[in-house]
Amino acid sequence: MKKRYYAAFQLSFIVLITFLTVLGGIFYFYQGTIDPLIEASHIILLGLAITFIFIFFLIQWRIDNFIYTKVRELYQDLLPTGIVISEESLEKDVLSITENLQKFAKENKLEIQLLKDKENYRREFIGNLAHELKTPLFTVQGYILTLLEGGVKDKETLKRYLKKAANGVDRLSFIINDLDLITQFETGITTLNVERFDIVALIHEIFELFEIQAAKKEIKLICDFKKDQPIWVNGDKKRISQVITNLLVNSFKYGVENGTTEMEVSEYSETKVLVRVTDNGKGIEDYHLPRLFERFYRVEKTRNRNEGGSGLGLAIVKHIIEAHNEKVFVESTLNVGSEFSFTLPKSKGG
Ligand code: ADP
Repeated sequence: MKKRYYAAFQLSFIVLITFLTVLGGIFYFYQGTIDPLIEASHIILLGLAITFIFIFFLIQWRIDNFIYTKVRELYQDLLPTGIVISEESLEKDVLSITENLQKFAKENKLEIQLLKDKENYRREFIGNLAHELKTPLFTVQGYILTLLEGGVKDKETLKRYLKKAANGVDRLSFIINDLDLITQFETGITTLNVERFDIVALIHEIFELFEIQAAKKEIKLICDFKKDQPIWVNGDKKRISQVITNLLVNSFKYGVENGTTEMEVSEYSETKVLVRVTDNGKGIEDYHLPRLFERFYRVEKTRNRNEGGSGLGLAIVKHIIEAHNEKVFVESTLNVGSEFSFTLPKSKGG
C-alpha cells in the first residue's frame, strides 16, 4: 500500500474494530448473547465495508487537507519571495515537496559555506597584504626618522641609510607592481601578446642571465637540450619568460647549496609540450600543495619573506599560464626536491 494512504487505512481500521466491539458489547448487555449478530453477519459485514470505505475517504481527505495547508505555509515561510510552486505540485506528492525542501536547504548550505570560505580568504588576504607591506614600510620609516633627527653626520653612513630606505621603497613598489599585475589578470584587463617562439632559445637566454645568481648559491644549472634544436611554441614570450624566471628564482631560494636546478622540455601531448623546472631543494609537504599558488601563501609561516620575493611569484605563474588556457603542475617531496611544470601549445609547422 502507498505510504500516503497508510495512516488513513490504519485509523479507519481502528475505528471499525472499536465500532464492532461496542456493537457486540451493547448486544450482549441487552440480549445476553451475540448469536443474532452472527446470523446477520453478511449484512453487518456489508455495512462494515461501506462504513470502512466512508471513514477511510473522510480521514484521507482530512489528512490531505491538513498537509496541504501546512506545507503551503511552510513553503511561504521558507522560500524567498518570487518562487512560485504550483498548487498541482503541492497536491501531487508530499514526498516531492520534502525533496524540494531538502534540495533547497542543501543548496543554501553550500552557498553559505562558499560565502564563509570567501570571507575567510578575504580576511586572510588582507592580513597577509598588511604583513607584507609592513616590513619594508617600517624599514623606510626607521631610516628616514633617524636621518631627520640629524644625529648622523658621517657622509658614508648617511648614504648607507638612504640606500637602505631606497631598497625598502623598491621592495614596496615591487609588491604593488606584482599585485597590480595579478589584479589585471583577474579582471581580464591584461591581454596576451601571443607569438611563435623557440622555447629552447628562451630558456638558454634566461639561464645565461641567472648564471651568476646560481653560482652564488653554488647551484648547478642543467638543461638537457641543445641550443640548436629548437622547439617552437605559441605564447606571450615576455610573460612566459617571467614564468620561467619566477620558477628559477624559487628553485635557488628554496634550493640547497651545491644543489641542482634542471630544466627540461618534453612532449605532453600531440599538441602540447611540458616545460619543467626541477630542483633538489628543501621540498614541500603534500598538504601545502593545493594552496601553494594562492597570493602570499607561504610554507613556513614564521620565517620572514626571503629577500626579493613578493610572495606573489607562484600566483603570477598561475595567472599567466591560465591566461594562456594552459595548465601548471607541482610535485614535491619534503627534503628531496620540487618540480614545477607547465604546458604550452606547440606551434604548427614547428
Ligand atoms: P615567495 O617565494 O616570495 O614566498 P612564491 O609565490 O614564489 O612566494 O612561493 C610561495 C611559497 O611556495 C614559498 O614561500 C615557498 O614556501 C614555496 N616554494 C615555492 N617554490 C619552491 C621550491 N622550488 N621549493 C620549495 N618551496 C617552494
